[in-house]
Amino acid sequence: MSAEESEQSPSERREALKEVLAQARGCVRCTELAATRKTVVFGAGNADADLMFVGEAPGASEDEQGVPFVGRAGKLLEQLLSEVGMARSEVFICNVLKCRPPGNRDPLPVEIDNCQDYLHRQVELIQPSVICTLGNFSTKLLRDDPTGITRLHGQPEVLTLGSRAVRLYPIFHPAAALYTPRMLETLREDFTRLPELLALGAPEQSQALEVPEAMLEAAPAEVEEPGSEIDQLGLF
Ligand code: URA
Repeated sequence: MSAEESEQSPSERREALKEVLAQARGCVRCTELAATRKTVVFGAGNADADLMFVGEAPGASEDEQGVPFVGRAGKLLEQLLSEVGMARSEVFICNVLKCRPPGNRDPLPVEIDNCQDYLHRQVELIQPSVICTLGNFSTKLLRDDPTGITRLHGQPEVLTLGSRAVRLYPIFHPAAALYTPRMLETLREDFTRLPELLALGAPEQSQALEVPEAMLEAAPAEVEEPGSEIDQLGLF
């Protein structure tokens, strides 16, 4: 991100996010996912949110509707948000992968690699102060480290992503907590710390690094795709 980009207004950043969405909708970097998806599930919510959630990958309902976290895990996420006085519309929600892996299999390393430019662009343009990673895939990707969520959950840390310092807050994935009461209890406890973390505001930006060259490279491969039934431009 250039110095000018970091000074863009929220509406300019939102417009830029729409361009990234248009690129993602035509993405064919993962041949299998591009052939099997119904929609590209880019992300939804407030494009100027202080809080961003990053899950794993769309499931069947998300693939149908083009919106992340609309199934049972999404309902739990909304419930936990409401318990700390927040609404889904205030935050931005997205995933590591923007396309559904067939049969809900785990994302492949090559798919995560192919898709990560989109997530980094979302972080650069939305400029959240807190990023809540849900489960192992997003936590490992954004920390660039294999340490798992069981060790890391509930421990905020300041991290530099691209040109921005953010507060990363790993928590359990709500889908995992659906079936494990103790995990749900822990997830709920971790959620209660979100308001105080948000109240800290964005971390000091002065130590943020320059954008790596790789992030300034040309946009991912794009093809024209027939219009989706859902106008995702209305999602944020
Ligand atoms: N699980 C995820 O990680 N993402 C979704 O969008 C839905 C379920």
